[in-house]
Amino acid sequence: MGRAMKPQLQVMKFGGTSVGDAACIARAAQIIADGARTGKCVAVVSAMSGVTNRLIDAAKAAQSGNAQGALAMLDELAAKHASTLTVVVKNEAGRTKVWQKMQQVFAEGRRFCEGTALLRELSPRTLDTISSLGERLSAPMVAAAVTELGLPSEALEASELIVTDDYHGGADPLMEQTRTKSHARIYPLLEKGIVPIVTGFIGATLDGERTTLGRGGSDYSATILGAALHATEVIIWTDVDGVLTADPRLINEARTIPNITYREAAELAFFGAKVLHPKTLKPVVEAAIPVWIRNSFSPEKRGTEITPKGGRNGGVKALTAIRDVTLISIGGPGIVGLPDVVGRTFSTIAEVRSNVLLISQSSSQNDICFSVSSADAERTIEALRKEFAQDLKHEKVEHINVDPNIAIVAVVGENMRGTPGIAGRTFQALGKENVNIIAIAQGSSESNISFVIEESAVKKALEATHREFGLHLTKNGN
Ligand code: ADP
Ligand code: ASP
Ligand code: MG
Repeated sequence: MGRAMKPQLQVMKFGGTSVGDAACIARAAQIIADGARTGKCVAVVSAMSGVTNRLIDAAKAAQSGNAQGALAMLDELAAKHASTLTVVVKNEAGRTKVWQKMQQVFAEGRRFCEGTALLRELSPRTLDTISSLGERLSAPMVAAAVTELGLPSEALEASELIVTDDYHGGADPLMEQTRTKSHARIYPLLEKGIVPIVTGFIGATLDGERTTLGRGGSDYSATILGAALHATEVIIWTDVDGVLTADPRLINEARTIPNITYREAAELAFFGAKVLHPKTLKPVVEAAIPVWIRNSFSPEKRGTEITPKGGRNGGVKALTAIRDVTLISIGGPGIVGLPDVVGRTFSTIAEVRSNVLLISQSSSQNDICFSVSSADAERTIEALRKEFAQDLKHEKVEHINVDPNIAIVAVVGENMRGTPGIAGRTFQALGKENVNIIAIAQGSSESNISFVIEESAVKKALEATHREFGLHLTKNGN
């Protein structure tokens, strides 16, 4: 890394709503330009909001043989991008250049949808190619908008920068290779005063095959690049004022948290706070790079700063809930005599790469239950039934039960360790509201208490705990 590049390098990420229409793109371009005028700045952009979902719909339509339907969806998306482009880029030459690029991207989308429809088969690899088209469309538009503000800018595909494993649909970076590639590509641009605008969500394997980092993965792209480029800070620009004490869509009284630790933010993200992709903090932990969450619609507000130490106030910081989860329990009196059940259960889960969110074992040891994302449930259950087929037949394992109508609520705060009685207060507050608790887990880090409830009780549970811990009195950072 050239020392001359210091003192400041910001990596900024703009989410789907922050580039959701022409006015938003103009606002994002202004924020990027302001950043690039005061220091060095690399931007990471998501697809325009709704576009990734639509691309996945198109891929699924193609998979079912409906090529016409898939192509019609791509046409709709082309019209949306064309009309946005017309407003965003005033200069005709610049507009033509972006439109040509977009047409290449759409042509690739059509080819892949047609191929999928022909075979009626959608491999994870093809799904990655189709679902990543949205970022390849938004980045050139944002770059053109920044250029129009008088700062030369270039759109880059992250497949040139972020090297990943080949786990399509949820790839992880190979940091050493990513560092080498992104240095070689980004620093020369920065030295020439060109602002790089990188596609979020996307990477490529060592062989150059396109991958994606998972839904909502542009946050992860930003911190991967932040770590790879030794950024001074990463700023995630979104549509809320920062990390809030609870999901503002569920709790009106949620407040912005001014400072939060990596661990707290990671717990919130892991337990479903959509504002951060679950893996966002992973790449920046080692270098202790601060991550900010800020509102692109109100850039004058301070937002939330995420650092290793966070704020000083202990106790409960925030609540979160995940609804799309399934509870699986394996049990029966027989499992007492089968000490390997736990081991076999979790190695089976690991083999199918399911994400386990919570584990609880009953004291009588007749039952272990755990929850996984509902998206992972079917393949997990199938794998477990196969693994335990013999035991089920001989009734050593009595049942593998599945409950999809549950949710997990997590109470998060790093210094809860020093604050006794939090679990008691939580369950008392829930008891008062008649919320039935199905299972409980407390991480050994003591930075979260999580519990399983019926899905229909989520709002009530969040409201009761939010009030119990006075989170509505959190001093706003803004
Ligand atoms: P982006 O498109 O910028 O990536 P997302 O929609 O992925 O934005 O994430 C932002 C959304 O996360 C907010 O609009 C909010 O509804 C939701 N959210 C859930 N929990 C929280 C929380 N604790 N703090 C802030 N936002 C939250
Ligand atoms: N566009 C991708 C998605 O919708 C990635 C992201 O927005 O972070 O999942
Ligand atoms: Mg997001």
